[in-house]
Amino acid sequence: MTERIDGHTILIGLMAYPIRHSKSPLMHNSAFEKLGLNYVYLVFDIDGDHIADGIKALRTLGMRGSNISMPNKQRVLPYLDKLDRTSQLTRSVNTIVNDHGALTGYTTDGTGFMQSLKDENLNIIGKKMVLTGAGGAGTPIAIQTALDGVSEISIFNNANDDKWENAKRNVHIINEHTNCHATLFDLKDRSSLKNEIGKCDIYCDATAVGMKPLQDQTLISDPSWFHKDMIVFDTVYAPLETKLMKVAKKAHVKHVLNGLGMMLEQGAAAFKLWTGKEMPVDYIHKILF
Ligand code: NAD
Repeated sequence: MTERIDGHTILIGLMAYPIRHSKSPLMHNSAFEKLGLNYVYLVFDIDGDHIADGIKALRTLGMRGSNISMPNKQRVLPYLDKLDRTSQLTRSVNTIVNDHGALTGYTTDGTGFMQSLKDENLNIIGKKMVLTGAGGAGTPIAIQTALDGVSEISIFNNANDDKWENAKRNVHIINEHTNCHATLFDLKDRSSLKNEIGKCDIYCDATAVGMKPLQDQTLISDPSWFHKDMIVFDTVYAPLETKLMKVAKKAHVKHVLNGLGMMLEQGAAAFKLWTGKEMPVDYIHKILF
């Protein structure tokens, strides 16, 4: 590290709170070192009351950029100069790039999701998706897949929880601004969920179910709801195999994926925006897991 850092080292940040547990510093610093890039990635405890100061510091220090996580993904918007199309539609940002003082906000979770499918030679353009969840992961997945050309998305969320308004907004935005057709359902409407999954090409679970403390739960426990030729994608990557994935495997679903590829590829997309280089994803995978 001492050999790597000098007077020319370029600083990238991660502004969120709480965030000290994040694996992103290990991911990006390992990639910088592997490629011999003179960058360093540091985490900053910045809560929602201090994000304006954080962005001012980014400008003052001439940082190349930053990742943004909760609770700042929406709060950061007023302090940026431009937004990419996905960030305009999701009204949130997870990556900032500083081009000589002009700050652009990007959202790389949805592109990470799409790239992780491409990495498995899977193509969902023109296909039908069923998506459960409309939070920090479900929203960029819905908007990005619609922008990229998924033809139909059935979005399910509990009508009585705090992400229902998000789900309504996501459906409205998709139908207004993309060629994809989105429909909203209450997650409690089990017969519609079964029916929609029966007709879909990909089922993506972007809810908190399957991850700690809900690691023993799954929204779908009957293998007969799935069919062999579909994709079942769980955004969770800890555990690496969720209960949902086990059910899908029992149904002999051909392509059963966890969220690890999405996590690596959203980081790789941010890395490319800052450095112009491809992150060595296989190498980083081995370091992180
Ligand atoms: P969030 O809190 O923003 O949204 C949570 C979503 O889960 C909401 O839609 C909510 O309605 C739903 N939900 C919560 N409890 C539920 C329950 N008991 N039954 C049904 N629905 C329920 O969280 P998030 O950041 O969107 O994270 C959601 C999932 O996505 C998590 O499992 C997380 O591990 C995963 N994730 C993966 C990546 C990745 O890169 N692979 C990135 C971010 C999040």
